[in-house]
Amino acid sequence: MPLAVNLRHLEAHDINLEGSLPVDELQIDTRDEVIQVHRPLDYDLEVQKLEDGLLVQGRLHLVLECQCVRCLKPFQYHLDLKHWTCHLPLQGEDRVTVTSDCVDLTPYMREDILLEFPRHPLCNPECRGLPGISVGGARSSSGSGKTEVGSPAWAELNKLKL
Ligand SMILES: [Zn+2]
Repeated sequence: MPLAVNLRHLEAHDINLEGSLPVDELQIDTRDEVIQVHRPLDYDLEVQKLEDGLLVQGRLHLVLECQCVRCLKPFQYHLDLKHWTCHLPLQGEDRVTVTSDCVDLTPYMREDILLEFPRHPLCNPECRGLPGISVGGARSSSGSGKTEVGSPAWAELNKLKL
């Protein structure tokens, strides 16, 4: 069952959600051979009802099974969103879908998690790769991964997830 909040329950009090969401429910498709998700997403969230929407705050943690793009070694990447915040409007054009008093938080978590994926997973920032194999410029771009957030490939991916 997806991670949903019941608006009726929220009328009475804030809701605390804590647990794990199986990969099947998260439906994260990395479309990337170097990043795989096999473990459930751990969440610890507090949901508040505001006048015109919901405020979700808390922590998301997901372990990614990565393959280093330089040395091809498998390693685990801990994607940790310690202060995840999401505002979900209940009114207006951008309002979220409410199904039998429930709002599914899963798509919003998925979207933000995908944004945090490493662009070029490295087992170690200092990884020098396999000896004798040129990795075509990847070495010189270390530390500048953040600048690729708006790359076309990721824009496409995000579009698909919406
Ligand atoms: Zn490596």
